[in-house]
Amino acid sequence: TSGSESLYEFGQRHVTNGLGRITQGIMTKGEGSYVFYDDGRKMLDFTCGIGVTNLGHVNHRVSTAAAEQCMKIVHAQCSIAMHEPYLRLIERLLPIMPDPSLDSFFFWNSGSEAVEAAIKMSRVITGKQNIICMQGAYHGRTFGAMAVTKSKTIYSKGVAPLMPGVFSIPYPFWHQLRLPPTTPTATLVSLCLYQLDLVLSQQSAPSDTAAILVEPVLGEGGYVPAPAEFLQGLRTLCDKHGILLIIDEVQSGFGRTGRYFSITESGVRPDILTIAKGLGNGFPISGVVSRKELTDKLTPGTLGGTYAGNAVSCAAAVAVADVMREEKILDNVQARSKELFASLKSLQSDSTVGRFILDVRGRGLMVGVEFAAPPGPEREHDVAVQEGVPKDMATRIAKKCIEKGMLILTTSVYEVIRFIPPLNVSAEDMKKGTKIFEEAVREVVK
Ligand code: PMP
Repeated sequence: TSGSESLYEFGQRHVTNGLGRITQGIMTKGEGSYVFYDDGRKMLDFTCGIGVTNLGHVNHRVSTAAAEQCMKIVHAQCSIAMHEPYLRLIERLLPIMPDPSLDSFFFWNSGSEAVEAAIKMSRVITGKQNIICMQGAYHGRTFGAMAVTKSKTIYSKGVAPLMPGVFSIPYPFWHQLRLPPTTPTATLVSLCLYQLDLVLSQQSAPSDTAAILVEPVLGEGGYVPAPAEFLQGLRTLCDKHGILLIIDEVQSGFGRTGRYFSITESGVRPDILTIAKGLGNGFPISGVVSRKELTDKLTPGTLGGTYAGNAVSCAAAVAVADVMREEKILDNVQARSKELFASLKSLQSDSTVGRFILDVRGRGLMVGVEFAAPPGPEREHDVAVQEGVPKDMATRIAKKCIEKGMLILTTSVYEVIRFIPPLNVSAEDMKKGTKIFEEAVREVVK
């Protein structure tokens, strides 16, 4: 820094404008469900760093495991040798996989990289090229992941050409079919599966289609769980045509929805599963899991990466798995989820603010609240539009929550606030968070 310039101001000048940011100031410390800023602000963190710090900030068991590994070996490069934390992590993950057939692991650093690997693997394994993904999907910011990301234009605007061979169908989210939020599940599912039939007969022949890629809970597209029937329909079509089913649980996985993996609810077997975020509780690690019978078709060297499966991150992830199991974190998810849903549903039936809330949805502690939007040029055909509704409600509510001491995020192109609190959040902090949210909603709509 120079002269009287603060470190924050220095950052304003030198950190790329390509990064967006929702708060000002410098974050200096994290402790459980709270983060602290250099000006003394203490904030309840209901973002978990975008669904990552599931066991709270600086979870002592996780940090200790990482610190101990730091003193043994930090970089036991995975193409040079196997290392113990990598293997111990597989040992921990095997029994919690959504299907016992998932027995072959590759660890990388980020969710995007896991998706890249999954796409690459599906092409090599099937000898086919095309990928069918979902409208509203988010899979990351690298080139392959960006090509299958359909949640907002901001991620790829001006960046094309992207990876070719990508087709998309609507996700069973009422918005995408221009139907009201009360539409029966069976209608949404049959419309989407019909669109898939059409894509397979009009655009991408099954003999050219390597994989269907889907998030079991649409994340950046609006926090929408897929009905089990939809995922089962995808499985049936994949089986019929020799297409691989890639399930992206980067955001919904590792306990977030009240199960280790959200796909379990549907009973559907993934061919390839991508995981990240909560797996390392903040240490960068992702995983691509498949069946040995499939991954045996890969030539050694197809996968790899300098930092892939870093020993410190793997050691942290082993501790995460142990804490999840020993501290019965999934039970806490269920209990806090009930409280969160009860509070949001009660707000939805409130006589003054209820009419602004269109939908409360989600699973476990991955919960979205959608607000109405006023008519506008970009929402001309939108069923969620209502006259006399304030503009940008989700963003304004999130801002109010931040002013009141709680970090919270919006999601999608719609007016959606997403709740992603730590999975071990206390009942007291959950109450505090829902109270701040309720106050913010009342202030914004008044
Ligand atoms: N897939 C999903 C479902 C995600 O939610 C995300 C991140 N929001 C990614 C992939 C990309 O992960 P990363 O940001 O770690 O690259």
